Amino acid sequence: MAYIDTKEIVKKYKFRFTKSLGQNFLIDDEVLDDIIKGADISKDDFIIEIGPGIGTLTKMLLTSAKKVCAIELDKDLIPILQDELKEFDNLELLNKDALKVNFNEIIGSETSVKVVANLPYYLTTPMISKMLTEDFNFKSLTIMIQKEVAERMASKPDCKAYGALSLLVQYYCDVSIVRRVSPLSFIPQPKVDSIVIKLDKLKEPRVKVKDEELFFLIIRSSFNMRRKTLWNGLKTLKLSKEDYDKVFVEANIDPKRRGETLSIQEFGNLSDVIFKYR
Ligand code: SAM
Repeated sequence: MAYIDTKEIVKKYKFRFTKSLGQNFLIDDEVLDDIIKGADISKDDFIIEIGPGIGTLTKMLLTSAKKVCAIELDKDLIPILQDELKEFDNLELLNKDALKVNFNEIIGSETSVKVVANLPYYLTTPMISKMLTEDFNFKSLTIMIQKEVAERMASKPDCKAYGALSLLVQYYCDVSIVRRVSPLSFIPQPKVDSIVIKLDKLKEPRVKVKDEELFFLIIRSSFNMRRKTLWNGLKTLKLSKEDYDKVFVEANIDPKRRGETLSIQEFGNLSDVIFKYR
């Protein structure tokens, strides 16, 4: 027995899916249960849901949390959500682009803030970057995303999937995989496998660096050309030849290594040494 008969609702309101908005709606109760369990929601929590669709996950969030703010871009879904969720008085529904909202304005004085979402795939990376870098005070993000992107976020040095996204996410959060999800759990079915991933925000970033902007610039430059050594990748930083030599000696890092072999601590150390010479 399904919690919500998604197909029935789609039919009832004659809803037409918009592919470009990544509309793949969940129809699998076991996955819904695992998202709610994985997100560890209590009656103290203020939940932000990005892209509620027809409200399948929203309904479960409304029952478990203190309040839910659901942000949906598709205006055709708003009357459906209002109708289907009318029994709840703890829902705030915003017809907005989640990429353009100010999360701190939405949460006001709430302190126990958790984000839960089955994210449209096109939105995953910009959305995560926005939430991590905008000083938005959340406790955790529990999100369904494309399998490959989840693997990049959770990846460690020397793994194929390790890169700038792994370091961005792991700088701010602990990462854990909640479960894998097959395309059969959605209508319409996406072409790719998905993973529910949980990001728990750390109290302080994982490494302390003198200049965050420089730290991330070094990371991006190191991964821009994957097969290049750090020596070549970091030439864009425009240090003098002498300083460039000194940097690698002082940071105790072999310039012939490639970016994908460096731990986040090594990137932090390299960035602080380069900071001195800029
Ligand atoms: N939560 C529902 C579920 O699990 O069945 C729907 C998930 S569906 C993958 C993604 C939802 O995000 C769609 O309802 C889509 O309209 C909405 N969406 C797409 N782009 C958005 C944006 N920029 N801001 C807010 N919502 C967006």
